Amino acid sequence: MSDAPSLDDDDVVQFIDDPSDQAPAASVEPWRILIVDDEADVHEATRLTLRDLTIEGRPLAFLHAYSAREAYAILARDQTLAVVLLDVVMESDDAGLQLVRRIRDELDNPSVRIILRTGQPGYAPEIETIRAYDINDYRSKSDLTRVRLFTSLTVAIRSYWQIRQIEMSRRGLELIVAASTGLNRLRALQQFAEGVVTQVCALLNIAPEGLICASSSGSFTDESSLVIAAAGRYRETIHRPLPELPEAPVRDALQRCLVERRHLFTHGICLYFNVSETRGMAAYLDIAREPCPMDRHLLEVFCANVSVGFENVLLHGQLYDLAYHDQLVRLPNRNRFIQLIEEKCTDPDMTLALLDLDDFAEIALALDHRFGDLVLQAVAVRLGQTFGPQVILARVAGDAFGLLGPRDALNPDRLQQVFADPLTVHGETIRLSATSSLIRLNGNPARGGELLKDASIALKQGKRFGRGKASYFSDALGHAARERMRMLSDLRTAFSAERLSLLFQPQIDLASGRTVGAEALLRWQTDAGQWIPPDQFIPLAEQSGLIVPIGEWVLRTACQRLHRLTELGHAGFRMAINVSHAQFREPGFVPMLERVLADCQVAAAQVELELTESIAMEHIDAITAKLAEIRRLGVAIAIDDFGTGYSSLSVLRQLDVDRLKIDRSFVHELDPSHPESGIAQLIVALGHQCNLIMIAEGVETEAQRRCLLAMGCQEAQGYLFARPMPIGQLEDWMAEGSATSRSTT
Ligand code: C2E
Ligand code: CA
Ligand code: CA
Repeated sequence: MSDAPSLDDDDVVQFIDDPSDQAPAASVEPWRILIVDDEADVHEATRLTLRDLTIEGRPLAFLHAYSAREAYAILARDQTLAVVLLDVVMESDDAGLQLVRRIRDELDNPSVRIILRTGQPGYAPEIETIRAYDINDYRSKSDLTRVRLFTSLTVAIRSYWQIRQIEMSRRGLELIVAASTGLNRLRALQQFAEGVVTQVCALLNIAPEGLICASSSGSFTDESSLVIAAAGRYRETIHRPLPELPEAPVRDALQRCLVERRHLFTHGICLYFNVSETRGMAAYLDIAREPCPMDRHLLEVFCANVSVGFENVLLHGQLYDLAYHDQLVRLPNRNRFIQLIEEKCTDPDMTLALLDLDDFAEIALALDHRFGDLVLQAVAVRLGQTFGPQVILARVAGDAFGLLGPRDALNPDRLQQVFADPLTVHGETIRLSATSSLIRLNGNPARGGELLKDASIALKQGKRFGRGKASYFSDALGHAARERMRMLSDLRTAFSAERLSLLFQPQIDLASGRTVGAEALLRWQTDAGQWIPPDQFIPLAEQSGLIVPIGEWVLRTACQRLHRLTELGHAGFRMAINVSHAQFREPGFVPMLERVLADCQVAAAQVELELTESIAMEHIDAITAKLAEIRRLGVAIAIDDFGTGYSSLSVLRQLDVDRLKIDRSFVHELDPSHPESGIAQLIVALGHQCNLIMIAEGVETEAQRRCLLAMGCQEAQGYLFARPMPIGQLEDWMAEGSATSRSTT
């Protein structure tokens, strides 16, 4: 800073007025001074008195207000005022003092310096007021000669400048701190760099102007360097490549600094930040004088420390990039898209769409992997061209893209248009089609992930029924699907928490009334104590594959119970276990069965698997082979729900099974007065022909029992005999049953 002369008489003022001393550069910002007085003469006199003066190398600029109210308005919009020369008596006797209070309290402006002036020498504010409102000086107007006024103003400006320095320094630190916690890479880096700029300027006690940070990655060549933060007159250069900087000396200094990887103090100051082996930053600032050795040292320490910060911000940026950007097509990825949906979904005009390429796997397979990548990149470009900047694009899965935009920009028609023209990839012309689903976001806040899930449900449906088309998603579809998803996740938890259990329903020999076995039936009681019927959760478990581990658990648990029953003396007791299609299809099913039988030490002949008729409907050869393997182990097989499927009789004949279970619907429709007219009768006849044992399920009445017995059905199961029961009860039941045979004739 220039040395301010001590002013004792007007001669010195002459000396200061001399323009040869520290002629201010045209670009130097003046100090802004507000003159507040209701007398026009005072304005004029002050202006003339202070004309052409410079303080600390900067000229003065004057603003004028003729009332406290007018002054307030100016202060409210101008944050850069350094000093207010304020008349005390204006609209009212204490209008000036009132204004002081409002500046500090209402405008919350602690930095502007205030010099009170009054025409009445006797009128002085309390010393307390001066202190409370941080008033710099109090003078009578007559007292303000050129020298006095200048002294007063210089002191005020210096103290204003100090206050600003402290504020700036604090702001710089705040920016740096905020930047290291900021997420978005570009913003964080820019913010951080701005913080560094502000901080360096505060250290050097200069205005945060004329400063640029250039970043270089990879090699230290010009092309890779960009301006990432710029202040003051360099503001326009933000984001421009270094070689495009208009001022050659600045450009050269930055380039040299980056290539030589060191600070330069010759033309302005160029500071080097060593971020990593391959990356550096350079900050340039206009400064008239060379920094003193003390300042240099300070700067070196500062730069060394800040380099680590730069490195962290960059690292963070890279992590962010990896976490939220698709590296192949340079679009936001699924994670980022979910965030974007959440940010935008409260806008009722927004539509969310998913676009999934049809048969992309085949294309990628038929050509090569690299070509597939190129196709995806071309699709990203095509989407950008079709939808323009209004629509946000993302890549949400292999060949699926997410779109988010206003309704008239994003609609089925537009989506249908995307692939109207073929794409050219690597000189090849390819025709693509895509299926899309759309959801109108209704303006309610929602979870981005859920909405995306809804869109994928609609997409799956679309793929099934209308490939190449775009269609809207209905709410009901989503609700049901979400409900199912929730239930599935609960079921998973329940299974791992061992909250599934088995009940056992006795199977009765109709002729003797003896219990010959039991069917194991799965139960799920939720944490809230609610029982969920298996008809609801088993299909879910089947669709998700969860039935495989659950089924193994059922098999193992049922076999353990069987082992125990045998130990209790119920030799020959048969345990019927339901096996789903999805389980049966597993390649490891038979070895698993064998292992369980061995582990539980049960005789294979006492175990019966209940398979539904539909199993027989596909790939009969594979089924026959598997059934044969199971039979070879000695395990029995029953066809469950028999008669409800559509298997042809010839197919049935080929299947090597032991038992047919007559579905309970046929039992219920039995007409005791005409038993021969029912389907049950047909099934029993068929079973006899094939030498199969027949078991009827869902027997609820004595009449049904009698009918079935008369038809020749050997076994039965149903509420008439017993409801499904826990294992303890079954053990009791068996203990009683072996004493008194349950024949009901
Ligand atoms: P399902 O194999 O046809 O089982 C017979 C169902 O009829 C059982 O229902 C049983 O409680 C019920 N039932 C028994 N006696 C009567 C009666 O007299 N009247 C009536 N109306 N119903 C009777 P549940 O236990 O709700 O099981 C429903 C279905 O869930 C089963 O039908 C079976 O397909 C499936 N399931 C049950 N446990 C398992 C299992 O461990 N694994 C597999 N894969 N499926 C299972
Ligand atoms: Ca069954
Ligand atoms: Ca059944």
